[in-house]
Amino acid sequence: MSNINIYCERLGPELLAEPINLFTNIAFLLAALLLSKQLSTPNTHISSLIGLLFIIGIGSMLFHSFATPWTRFFDVLPIMLFQMLFVWTYIRQVINSTTYVAATTIALLLVSSLIAREFPQLLNGSLPYLPALIILLGLSIYHYLTGQPKPLHLFIVGGLFVVALFFRTIDASICNDVPIGTHSIWHLVSAYMLYLSVDTLISQRR
Ligand SMILES: [Zn+2]
Repeated sequence: MSNINIYCERLGPELLAEPINLFTNIAFLLAALLLSKQLSTPNTHISSLIGLLFIIGIGSMLFHSFATPWTRFFDVLPIMLFQMLFVWTYIRQVINSTTYVAATTIALLLVSSLIAREFPQLLNGSLPYLPALIILLGLSIYHYLTGQPKPLHLFIVGGLFVVALFFRTIDASICNDVPIGTHSIWHLVSAYMLYLSVDTLISQRR
């Protein structure tokens, strides 16, 4: 199977060709561990999000080691599932809206993200994250206006999302100046961002 060489750091096909991209995934595992300690009252949705955060780290580790189309699937799917479950949980448990509203929003997110996947050349493949960012902005405004605990938290999550996407997008183009690229910064910032997003949900339960 052919290797996917889309990240600046990768120079060859070997397992440890992206050491920094590989090891920065520990941040996702660490975030999952911290959140599981914070969750005092059992909540299936939040526990599943924490589980997905752990799987995101493992999936991304596999992808940055083997870099095959098959492992790319493991890098993309858990993130997509996390986004959908977060939006679902927020709409159902914080907004207390109907399953119909939640399902429609998830369907919109899924369809627009899949359409965006057809344009991998745009923004170095970061375009599929745009629908999630737009929905997050909507939730942030709701979160702030309704005076939820940690009212600005989701705006911070959105801001970190933009910063993370910026580093993910410029990775290939700055390769000549910064040989290790900036994809690892995407890992670190998005791990913190996902941590804060689940932390926001946990705060609602207290
Ligand atoms: Zn990655």
